Amino acid sequence: MFFVYLIFCSLFLFGLVFIITNAFIFNLSNDNFIHRFFKYNFGIGLYTQLTTSWLLFFRKIKPEERDYLERNFPYYIHLTKRKKKEFLFRFSKFIQSKDFIPVNMLYVPDSVKYYISATATQIAFGLDSFVYPTFSRIYVHPKSIDNTGFIFPVEGLTSMGGYVHFSMEAIERGRSIADDGENVVVHETAHMLQMEDFGGDMEENDFLDEQLFRIWLKMAIKKREIIQHGLNELLPEHAAYDLSEMFAVSLENFFERPEIFQQKLPKKYKALCLLLGQNPLNKNNPLMDRRKFYYFAPRRRAT
Ligand SMILES: [Zn+2]
Repeated sequence: MFFVYLIFCSLFLFGLVFIITNAFIFNLSNDNFIHRFFKYNFGIGLYTQLTTSWLLFFRKIKPEERDYLERNFPYYIHLTKRKKKEFLFRFSKFIQSKDFIPVNMLYVPDSVKYYISATATQIAFGLDSFVYPTFSRIYVHPKSIDNTGFIFPVEGLTSMGGYVHFSMEAIERGRSIADDGENVVVHETAHMLQMEDFGGDMEENDFLDEQLFRIWLKMAIKKREIIQHGLNELLPEHAAYDLSEMFAVSLENFFERPEIFQQKLPKKYKALCLLLGQNPLNKNNPLMDRRKFYYFAPRRRAT
């Protein structure tokens, strides 16, 4: 009898702590707290929530992380105080859930870890999910990456196996030239986003809205033909390689040179704003109100 009582009590306690943990996390990360709370506690996201929020609850943001963002990451620097808080929270969850593994070097510098994590946070900032749970390992190489199965060395590589490779040299190039529409971290993170959602079970992770993604896809198919005919004015030729390349290259341009993107391809710019739930031109608060209504009215917003 005592044991039954004990089991019952521990289950109750566990449940209570779990609910409080989630309440804390969702209250901080999303305005529409009650809706998300129920969806994630009693819906399909239970497993992901258990494995991510539970483990990450106790992590504190380190002062050097905050310093790094405050000095080196323009997207963060421009945010309002409140949005910075939210960004830090998401950044912290991301960095904690990844293993950064050095290849052919002794260690991965903190600045590289911070840059990758901040960029991943930036890209998913307008979305409900932001930890990219499929991807747990991030390999960092000093230079271009050989032996990947491609005939030429590459600068980044994302695999459905749950890992990403980056060349540190390419990361540095992307970081220092911030307005040329080329950034390996944005590129590979875009692949991660896509694989999270459409690589396997569409319902598994709510990163991209299916309806909004279809709208983007329609435009992308047309755009691809235009590029193949050599009539393109913004995106480089390699964007037309396939649709996932198109998505990755579009995101590089969307985040690195939003002004030109909006001027030259206004409809595609808007479609990406809706899909990613943010407009990078509004620097203080790039978020659109999509997250709030995400689960209630995706259809209405898509039209
Ligand atoms: Zn690619």
